[in-house]
Amino acid sequence: MPLRHALSAVLLTAITSLAAHAQPAATLQVTLLGTGNPRPNMERFGPSILVEAGGQRLLIDAGRGAAQRLFAIGQREVLTGIDAVLLTHLHSDHTVGLPDVWLTPWIFGRARALPLIGPAGTADMARHLTQAYQWDIGTRTKDEGFPAEGVRFDAKDVTPGVVYDRDGLRVTAFAVDHGAFAAPALGYRVDFRGRSAVVSGDMRFDERIVEHAKGADVMVVEVISPEVEARRAQVQDPKALARILARHISPDQAGTLFTKVAPRLAVFTHIVPSPATAEDLVPVARKTYAGPLAVGYDLMTIVIGASVDVFPRRTLSDQ
Ligand SMILES: [Zn+2]
Repeated sequence: MPLRHALSAVLLTAITSLAAHAQPAATLQVTLLGTGNPRPNMERFGPSILVEAGGQRLLIDAGRGAAQRLFAIGQREVLTGIDAVLLTHLHSDHTVGLPDVWLTPWIFGRARALPLIGPAGTADMARHLTQAYQWDIGTRTKDEGFPAEGVRFDAKDVTPGVVYDRDGLRVTAFAVDHGAFAAPALGYRVDFRGRSAVVSGDMRFDERIVEHAKGADVMVVEVISPEVEARRAQVQDPKALARILARHISPDQAGTLFTKVAPRLAVFTHIVPSPATAEDLVPVARKTYAGPLAVGYDLMTIVIGASVDVFPRRTLSDQ
């Protein structure tokens, strides 16, 4: 077991090594497909989270490698079976995997449109992507007979409020502060039969998230370690660090939010910079938070039910 997994493991409330993929009916399941950042890294793919509940599958953000992770965990069924993609904001590290998540399932048999939900600019992005891939779409429709509906975006710009509500699975968007130039940016709260998870998206320290996250079982928050960033870049300039934190959140700031929300499990994802490990993040978070905490890794699955269980998701190569 890699060191960071081991360190995460000891911090968890409950650890299981469930053999089955499928979530029991009354559970909400969250899988971190990618826990990295813009820097290409083989261990941490781009930000993307798979939510599964009641037979539905939602993808929150589509960073680099999201389609690869979906195929790895569930082959054709999961890749083609996404019910909606929700974007927290339109920064490229959160969206660069979107063409793959949209087009590749079509090749594997998807015949229904892909709902795409996100802040202002999302519908434009869908329209422009459709234009950019017009040659491929036209060719495959004609030559291979793939249905046009299977490559259609059903895109919608949304504002804070309920943005998805089907068969007991409800997603509520809320505004987060990711700096003036990255507005609008959203976080999402997912509720299913009394279970809940909150995903922060990218944000700087902002206590408004506390009211949206209240009562949530699991709180997934992005994190940046300014200390590691400074060490690696040999930047000692406090102004440079302040600029980073003007858009993101540090482990101790996240800890302050976790303490106020008191989730059953707090999780770090979107870890910046890439070499940052549990040793870099956890002691800093512990200055402000004493509760259950996990440092996310790619394919970490969190099953939220009577207990909150965490295990590394099985992939095709494990079977
Ligand atoms: Zn961002």
